[in-house]
Amino acid sequence: MSGITQESFVDGPGLRYVIFTQGCPHECPHCQNPETWDANAGEEFSVKQVSRMLRQHRKPKRGITFSGGEPFAQAGELAEVATAARQLGWDVVTYTGFTYEELIESNDENMLALLSASDILIDGKYVHELRALSLQFRGSSNQRVIDVVETRKEGRVVLWKEKRDVARRVQRNVGTKKV
Ligand code: SF4
Repeated sequence: MSGITQESFVDGPGLRYVIFTQGCPHECPHCQNPETWDANAGEEFSVKQVSRMLRQHRKPKRGITFSGGEPFAQAGELAEVATAARQLGWDVVTYTGFTYEELIESNDENMLALLSASDILIDGKYVHELRALSLQFRGSSNQRVIDVVETRKEGRVVLWKEKRDVARRVQRNVGTKKV
């Protein structure tokens, strides 16, 4: 792991707990976090330790975000951390330098497990020429904010939309309201 931010509003919707992983194979020119590239640097934590840290955090959060480095380089472990986060009622946002299609085509059990554990995937390498400060949650316009839940339902890539997200959350709350 290269770091943790306990309160972020810029790494996905709502207030989020962010884990920055260590190790990235993509080496995008002008990457803002080149110190995360070396897979042998950073601090090592077990899934158990991270899950305990989440449980002890106690402050309400909308969700957890896995950022980079490249989260899919340790996909199996993060899929387990995602399960611990869900037990707290949190949703899961995952950043990756891979595209959604590359993850699917990898046929890698761990990568597919982390993809399934994610509600939102922000995919693609950072391309400096396509950089724009106005973009929500991402650095360059080639990157996509993918609604993984809808994408799986429809069998095609569906981009995340705030309106749909709000409607889904309202529906879920109404559905769970006791009468
Ligand atoms: S994928 Fe992210 S962390 Fe990795 S090199 Fe590209 S911008 Fe940097």
